[in-house]
Amino acid sequence: KLSSEELMQLEDRYGAHNYHPLPVVLAKGEGVYVWDVEGKKYFDFLSAYSAVNQGHCHPKIVKALTDQAQTLTLTSRAFYNDTLGVYEKFVTDYFGFDKVLPMNTGAEAVETAIKIARKWGYEKKGVAENQAQIIVCEQNFHGRTTTIISFSSDPDANTNFGPFTPGFIRIPYNDLDALAEAAKQPNIIGFLVEPIQGEAGVYVPAEGYLAGAKEICSKNNILFIADEVQTGIARTGKLLAVDHENVKPDILILGKAISGGVYPVSAVFANDNIMMVIKPGQHGSTFGGNPLAAKVAVAALEVVKDEKLAENSERLGQLFRAEMNRIIEKSDLILKVRGKGLLNAIIVNDTEDSKTAWNLCVELKNNGLLAKPTHGNIIRFAPPLVMTEEQLMECVAIIEKTILEFKK
Ligand code: PMP
Repeated sequence: KLSSEELMQLEDRYGAHNYHPLPVVLAKGEGVYVWDVEGKKYFDFLSAYSAVNQGHCHPKIVKALTDQAQTLTLTSRAFYNDTLGVYEKFVTDYFGFDKVLPMNTGAEAVETAIKIARKWGYEKKGVAENQAQIIVCEQNFHGRTTTIISFSSDPDANTNFGPFTPGFIRIPYNDLDALAEAAKQPNIIGFLVEPIQGEAGVYVPAEGYLAGAKEICSKNNILFIADEVQTGIARTGKLLAVDHENVKPDILILGKAISGGVYPVSAVFANDNIMMVIKPGQHGSTFGGNPLAAKVAVAALEVVKDEKLAENSERLGQLFRAEMNRIIEKSDLILKVRGKGLLNAIIVNDTEDSKTAWNLCVELKNNGLLAKPTHGNIIRFAPPLVMTEEQLMECVAIIEKTILEFKK
């Protein structure tokens, strides 16, 4: 059996660079816990970037996967199969849309939404061929594909990856005046937005921003496209983050926790008047909506309702921020906490390019809690939503001890 050290060397030697991982090698997960190769137990405070909302290896979701894996795994969309329609009815009822377009990853679903919006712009809005423009925000994160990085403001994401896909206008986030101004420009067909910017460091817009943005979109006949890949599925204390402002997107993008992290599943939702612009042969994916994905997603979404994960996320989120604020009173190291539900971040008293948040995460790891900085001074905290209050208070104690003992 290989040690953590040996396994890290293998990844470093044979794997292409991806994200920069914390030095821990995980071998097992259950609920809110993960274990490393040497058997040390940790609280998972990242949940695979908010994919494992239902907790690691949830037995009901795993059973859906293993049962289906012994029956039928993949047909492609060349044929109908006995799981997809059932899933599509379930999930469209669940989120309240006429139609779903099943995909596999978050980025792929965002790409899909862009294609749908463009087609809608040409066919329903009469925009001149290939001239459609979509408004996006500064500091956005929507994935890593070539078109998506074309409108990223992150130099890591786009430096030396051009030429880029045209058709995007970037405006400041959380700025309705900027949106109203941009909406007046010609050929605008959509506004693509994260209801809370996750990768930007859990940046929560002012109350009323989403409702105001939706209103501007409606007034200008522009599609409001919500990327809830990270914020959706009860993460922020409601099923969707847009639910906080009773906003219904024209196009909704989901991924990550729609499958509880058990299998790659993503989905794009819209009503008929928008979705039906896509005709057979115009978009698809071999694995999108496959039988494993269909069964896993139904089970994962049932768990969200059965176990009242939105309510738990809301309640524990309030408690968590109150506890962080209590710790902030005692420490010069942390400036503030922000977030909604169980999607939160603490802001460390240092610069964005410092190592402080990283070093703090290494200490948190040594004390039994895994989290990852989004920036040199921001740590995101996003535990599985199946956490109990008692477990959360154990985590608070670990965070408190780590912060109070930390030496820069
Ligand atoms: N959109 C948002 C808002 C995300 O947070 C992410 C992933 N962090 C993505 C899209 C991309 O998802 P994936 O990594 O599955 O492609």
